Amino acid sequence: MHEPSFGGSEWLYLKECLDSTFVSSVGKFVDRFESELASFTGAGHAVAVVNGTAALHIALKLAGVRTDDEVLVPALTFVATANAVSYCGATPHLVDSEESTLGMDAARLRAHLVSQTEQRVGSCVNRATGRIIRAMVPMHTFGHPVDLDGLLAVAKDFNIAMVEDAAESLGSYYRGQHTGTFGLLGILSFNGNKTITTGGGGAILTNDPELARRAKHLTTTAKVPHRWEFVHDELGYNYRMPNINAALGCAQLEQLPGFLESKRTLFERYRDAFAPVPGVRMFAEREGCRSNYWLQTLLLDESIGGRRDELLAATNAAGYQTRPAWAPMHTLAPYSSCPQASLQVAESLQRRIINIPSSAVLAREPSP
Ligand SMILES: *Cc1c(COP(=O)(O)O)cnc(C)c1O
Repeated sequence: MHEPSFGGSEWLYLKECLDSTFVSSVGKFVDRFESELASFTGAGHAVAVVNGTAALHIALKLAGVRTDDEVLVPALTFVATANAVSYCGATPHLVDSEESTLGMDAARLRAHLVSQTEQRVGSCVNRATGRIIRAMVPMHTFGHPVDLDGLLAVAKDFNIAMVEDAAESLGSYYRGQHTGTFGLLGILSFNGNKTITTGGGGAILTNDPELARRAKHLTTTAKVPHRWEFVHDELGYNYRMPNINAALGCAQLEQLPGFLESKRTLFERYRDAFAPVPGVRMFAEREGCRSNYWLQTLLLDESIGGRRDELLAATNAAGYQTRPAWAPMHTLAPYSSCPQASLQVAESLQRRIINIPSSAVLAREPSP
């Protein structure tokens, strides 16, 4: 589906890391990776952490999410988005997606909030549960930017903080600005199957220097800097990214522009190849958006959505790894009783999405 590619300075930087003996929680590659991520994305600050889920956990805490709050999460996402909300002691409130972006639908969300919530002293309260809806976590599905203009307006009108789950969208832009830099905070993932990998890893993005300082502090055990004293001034987390992973990240970032170009070429080849096939289309970036085409997505028409599993079985049997979108959150045991909006579109999309082989290296193979 998405294999990593290590054709750059990976060996060199890893050797440098081993030779220096700084393989763990301190070392120059962590600082370098953070500053290069900030400059690539245009975010004011980037804080490297152990994985994308940990990044989301801390980003939500910094956005003010507390025990007994609710957080708006798309039903159609990877489970990490909802899990990070649960780690804060809060409850995911599941909302629908739209077919044009595969992400949160701003218009339907607004209608849902108008009918289900009221404002109490500057907070959005779910009338049915009495809990505060503190934040929303739009996710850029398979690298395709969500409707940020629409969602930012909802966030502002209803006093809800935005944390962007940009785990899948490194190299994706909305109106020329990098995804993950629109909300109060955003997060990236560098898991093995993502656009670039550090083995495991993630980052918190923010333009607010104080939030960046807090993110660094909380993810490094909340230790007060001192040459020998062990003073921790609040409950912190051991979420820092080891130097050896950051070394891999620096080498991968150097190749990112090439990966993005290859992934776009791969999309164009698939689009042309599937154009004459009735009942299916390649999901393409929307106007005003630039997608990283992380996972290539075949969207089946409603009329043949019922044959998805047949197509999955046939392609996998023929040696092509294909897979459906995630099971929507409300169908998973831990999230089956969460508050939820109507999830019609998410359910329809889930029946009709097939992800097909998406590795950047595939574009280097000759066209069939
Ligand atoms: C990959 C991913 C994450 C974070 O994953 P980690 O494996 O913890 O790095 C979060 N949200 C989404 C949507 C993802 O695809």
